[in-house]
Amino acid sequence: MKPDYQKIISRVYADISAQPNLGKVPDYIPEIACIEENKFGVNFTDLDLNSFGCGDFQEKFSIQSISKVFALSFVYEKLGEEIWKRVDVEPSGNPFNSLLQLEADCGIPRNPFINAGALVICDILLEVCENPKEKLLEFIRELAEDDQIFYNNAVAQSEMDNSFRNTAMCNYMKSFGNIHSKPSEVIDLYCHLCSIEMTCEQLSKSLLFLVNEGEQPFDGERVLSSSKVKRINAILLTCGFYDESGEFSFLVGLPGKSGVGGGIVALYPKHYCITVWSPKLNEKGNSYRGMKFLEEFTTQTGESIF
Ligand code: GLN
Repeated sequence: MKPDYQKIISRVYADISAQPNLGKVPDYIPEIACIEENKFGVNFTDLDLNSFGCGDFQEKFSIQSISKVFALSFVYEKLGEEIWKRVDVEPSGNPFNSLLQLEADCGIPRNPFINAGALVICDILLEVCENPKEKLLEFIRELAEDDQIFYNNAVAQSEMDNSFRNTAMCNYMKSFGNIHSKPSEVIDLYCHLCSIEMTCEQLSKSLLFLVNEGEQPFDGERVLSSSKVKRINAILLTCGFYDESGEFSFLVGLPGKSGVGGGIVALYPKHYCITVWSPKLNEKGNSYRGMKFLEEFTTQTGESIF
């Protein structure tokens, strides 16, 4: 028998709301530093499109690194296995914005979910389409069945004005020949992708194709082959939380992805997608309450991919 998800979510939400909200809102992107830190939303959507939420689940927030999942899916569909020549699929065991391994690895990022990897994916995007910003947004809107999804240009600009590390990474990879376009164009696209704003509800729905072996459950449209979906989910499990990926897998037992805007999406293949948003981050850059919520949620449902 299926667990009573709604009941469990409401209970866990109430429990965690009653506990201290630890962590810190990141201050290196001024436009998102001013977010109200006690925002807290959760949405659950399953393959039958049963959907429910708690708290601020219909409020938009900056999806930040969660956009790396959309960018990878889009590029993987267009270019296929070729992309793995330019980005690896190993956990980095390092912070998301680390430059440390790039020299030893000759400019090949460890995986597509750290910043260096996402910059290479953006570079590929610039090569495979004429209007990558429009195309990516169109792709996400189709996945969410919702036209009301936009870039936040102020957030993108704020990040561009402060993207010293990402620019360094991009230039460094260019020196190895693993960035083909102008680094400034790659950074512009990357910062725009990070600035996309979505609600927990929109995020859960838009990632259901990864739960459903590559097909959108609401219209049967195929987004990716089941083999590609298996691979993306594998990378989400091993690399979705940077140097806390092992911990997330250990505590929660589901593939997922976080962003410094405080969002986390987690997927239970063949069943559901759940998204949590709470802006205060732990020291690894993952939402403090998001991690806690999902740990408690899978403990109480007794379900995980293991
Ligand atoms: N825009 C952020 C950055 O590049 C994304 C990082 C993240 O969400 N982990 O630093």
